[in-house]
Amino acid sequence: MALTGIQILKMLPKKNCGECDIPTCLAFAMKVAAGQAEIDTCPYVSDEAKQTIGEASAPPIRTIKLGSGDSAFTAGGETCLFRHEKRFENPTGIAVLVSSNEDDAKVDGKLDRFNAFEYERVGVMMSADLVAVKDVDGNGDAFTGLTKKVIEKAPKATLILITDNVDNMKAAAAECGDRKPLLLGANSDNWQAMGDLAKELDCPLGARGSNLDNLVEVSGNLVESGMKDMIIDTGARTLRAAFEDNVVARRAAVKEKFKPLGFPTITFPCEMADDPMMEAMIASVLMAKYAGIVVLSDIQGDILFPLLLEQLNIFTDPQRPMVVQEDIYPVGGPEEDSPVLITCNFSLTYFIVSGEIEGSKVPSWLLIKDTEGLSVLTAWAAGKFGADLIAQFVNKSGIADKVKHRELIIPGYLATIKGELEEELADWTITIGPREAGHLPAFLKDWKPAK
Ligand code: SF4
Repeated sequence: MALTGIQILKMLPKKNCGECDIPTCLAFAMKVAAGQAEIDTCPYVSDEAKQTIGEASAPPIRTIKLGSGDSAFTAGGETCLFRHEKRFENPTGIAVLVSSNEDDAKVDGKLDRFNAFEYERVGVMMSADLVAVKDVDGNGDAFTGLTKKVIEKAPKATLILITDNVDNMKAAAAECGDRKPLLLGANSDNWQAMGDLAKELDCPLGARGSNLDNLVEVSGNLVESGMKDMIIDTGARTLRAAFEDNVVARRAAVKEKFKPLGFPTITFPCEMADDPMMEAMIASVLMAKYAGIVVLSDIQGDILFPLLLEQLNIFTDPQRPMVVQEDIYPVGGPEEDSPVLITCNFSLTYFIVSGEIEGSKVPSWLLIKDTEGLSVLTAWAAGKFGADLIAQFVNKSGIADKVKHRELIIPGYLATIKGELEEELADWTITIGPREAGHLPAFLKDWKPAK
């Protein structure tokens, strides 16, 4: 059962030294209880307390880190069944499959596309994360050679090695150095040897079952043997079976604290359909229902982009709006006589307003004031976008050093604060801009500095 902050505090050394980057032990205990801090961050807590607190505060779906450095990927860490209950923590990883029986040109093409497709959306860079390397026919040399190729050609990829042959796994993993691949191949016949190999190499292990019951047996054995970092494959290769297994696994882990299923799942849409469009649809369903990783047969822009957008939607915190940083944003190369506009830091507002300014071809300075992600009117109503706060921000922002005029264009929805703002910013002329961003291009084209 989860521990409260006070119960955790009783087990802390209470030095209030701040070495955990949190000023007091009480605040640290509260954060650990809320799953926002790791107990290991306190260097003074005893091993016994660490174990007790760590186990009690661990999420029901274990957080698994694959890879290292730039190629690190995190799966799991989930605590709830539905996003509105809290939030989903770590986005589903998107992997592309390369197999040891594919010719060089095919593999090269997949890796080139894996490297090439990258998108920026609301300030977030999005791309596929993982390459799954599959040993199709037990040919160890071919499997190792393919692994080497992926390491060289896809430096940002986190690797998944797929084989049930322990020797082939060992040889391929040896090529990965510190990139810590997922060793996906423990089954009911080899779980002990694969588990030992994963422990020896300090890599996460993938446990596979022929069905959910068989997986529970394999993963239960591994949990009992002390294996901690695992990703599980229920063996389902139809949408219906994979969907049902994912739901059963999540429910059993979250509601019943059932350890053998308390790990992120890996699913294989690439083995559920021949048509890329159908494969993408299956992947999108499984992303929405708890898949930790989806493996695709290839990466194409028209398949990847909608999946990444879905991922962005599902894995943002519903209680925290997306924001951009408070700052001065130059749009289109503004100069000292360019207009100065101000708006809130709700990222959607920022991207719409900056997009309209860009479209107007009138270079401008865009001031973004921190409103904790609230939109213009909501922020004003909440007291976060009032005349006094805007004036403070304008004065400290440094915009006065960038322009020779003193005119500030405020959103049309803030027309009522014009007088108040003129009092706060006595040197500035306050101009009311349009209410809708769509009217900005026409407004800016007619704009001339007032003074
Ligand atoms: Fe307390 Fe440990 Fe944090 Fe120091 S490092 S404030 S002792 S929790």
